[in-house]
Amino acid sequence: MPDTRPRRTFAVISHPDAGKSTLTEALALHARVITEAGAVHGKGDRRATVSDWMAMEKARGISITSAALQFVYDGHVINLVDTPGHSDFSEDTYRVLSAVDSAVMLVDAGKGLEPQTLKLFRVCALRGIPVITVINKWDRPGLSPLGLMDDIEKQIKLRPTPLTWPVGEAGDFRGVLDRRTGEFIKYTRTAGGATRAPEVRMDADDVEEADRLPWSEAVDGHELLQLDDYDHDQERFLAGETTPVMFASALQNFGVAQLLDLLLDLAPSPSPTEGIDGSIRKVEDDFSAFVFKVQSGMNSAHRDRLAYARVVSGSFERGMVVTHGTTGRPFATKFAQAMFGREATSVETAEPGDIIGLVNAGSLRVGDTMYVGDPIAYPPVPSFAPEHFKTCSAADISKFKQFRKGIEQLDQEGVVQVLRSDLRGDQSPVLAAVGPLQFEVVEDRMKNEFNSPIRLSSLPYSAARLTDAAGADELRGVRNTEVLQRSDGTYLALFVDKWTAGYVGREHPGVMLEELPAGGS
Ligand code: GDP
Repeated sequence: MPDTRPRRTFAVISHPDAGKSTLTEALALHARVITEAGAVHGKGDRRATVSDWMAMEKARGISITSAALQFVYDGHVINLVDTPGHSDFSEDTYRVLSAVDSAVMLVDAGKGLEPQTLKLFRVCALRGIPVITVINKWDRPGLSPLGLMDDIEKQIKLRPTPLTWPVGEAGDFRGVLDRRTGEFIKYTRTAGGATRAPEVRMDADDVEEADRLPWSEAVDGHELLQLDDYDHDQERFLAGETTPVMFASALQNFGVAQLLDLLLDLAPSPSPTEGIDGSIRKVEDDFSAFVFKVQSGMNSAHRDRLAYARVVSGSFERGMVVTHGTTGRPFATKFAQAMFGREATSVETAEPGDIIGLVNAGSLRVGDTMYVGDPIAYPPVPSFAPEHFKTCSAADISKFKQFRKGIEQLDQEGVVQVLRSDLRGDQSPVLAAVGPLQFEVVEDRMKNEFNSPIRLSSLPYSAARLTDAAGADELRGVRNTEVLQRSDGTYLALFVDKWTAGYVGREHPGVMLEELPAGGS
């Protein structure tokens, strides 16, 4: 029997430190997946997290992996797709965004819009992903709520439509005014936010004396917003013109239940998806899914390789034989898992919107489609402009076999982009990264997972442009420029800086030099 409960598949995104891990934990807590906050994404002296699987990640306290957390809330199946926290892994974040129907953007009330906030908003706009904005850390002193709305409108060009409005300024969080009902949702603090924060809903008449002043200020704010038409409009939200806003304190669990309710009320459910050829796959059609992430080394004992796929249409059942779009070959899905961090549970069935992890799916690459019935191919998961380049070689040449295998694996996973040229040969390919931390992951995994320590040496390039075979020919020998090839066959021209790229472009007007979307730090 297919599970027909409605789905919400979303990601929480933010500039690092805005509170993504804390919110994820709070959401899971509300869903009663875990009983005590701290078990999912603990940091610092809290318990080690389920999602921190790499020793390096633990040391740094950042999330490098992406996974999905599934839980049931009010009759809905919620899929929260985890994204990496550090800006160096933004490429990974962008891939995750190709697998969700909506995003929750966290903004630090004290810091306002930060560089990664702006970039991520842009990517969501590019991909047509509706965004709900959560102004977080309202329990701490911060900016004015109207000022924040102004920044969102001016810098992001999205009209903010607050659904709640804070009662009490940042640092004096009494609760929120529910703009849809006019009620006061009053919060009570709990120790360390470790249990569900009790929320009391009351009519305006019942607001206690002590809260009267901040309440009347909130009412004024609400009325101002109303006059200027900053009210929620579902159509404009789905069209990417507005962003519903709410105020929260993830640490205190304030606003977390409201966020879940908003997701149920406003966020879109899985919808028909267009293939490259323009054909439409409806959710109830035959099974299809696409791979948005490939990962290995999750389990040091088994060296499992996992391909994460989002189900687009049809029902998935474990053991089902599907066609692998790229090769046209049948593919038996014997081992499908639901993954969140280190905890893997076997998946028996999955529905559109769900994320499945396919174990030891050696042939699956990022962007691949799987299907049953009529063939379908979904548009490729976007890749971003690398800005850091290093040559890479085996530190111990007797380990060359391991070296080649490791580099190929990391390339397939998209940990870095691997670039080659005849000139450089197979012994020392060029690694291209959006953020420099990606190199550390490669070094770490090559040494510990593939038993082939590597030597990296920096190249003076910082800009890449897409070119073609003719461009590669024409640019051969041009100073401060080098053309290399990715494993998918595309050519990248590397330049010391973007001005050189511009100059070379003007000197060689016939050469294709196309900019890639900027993603990095
Ligand atoms: P991430 O990098 O976005 O995952 O951010 P974290 O969840 O790790 O949070 C960064 C820091 O901000 C941590 O010290 C959190 O305890 C703190 N933090 C997160 N949410 C809140 C909040 O609502 N209020 C306050 N005061 N601190 C918060």
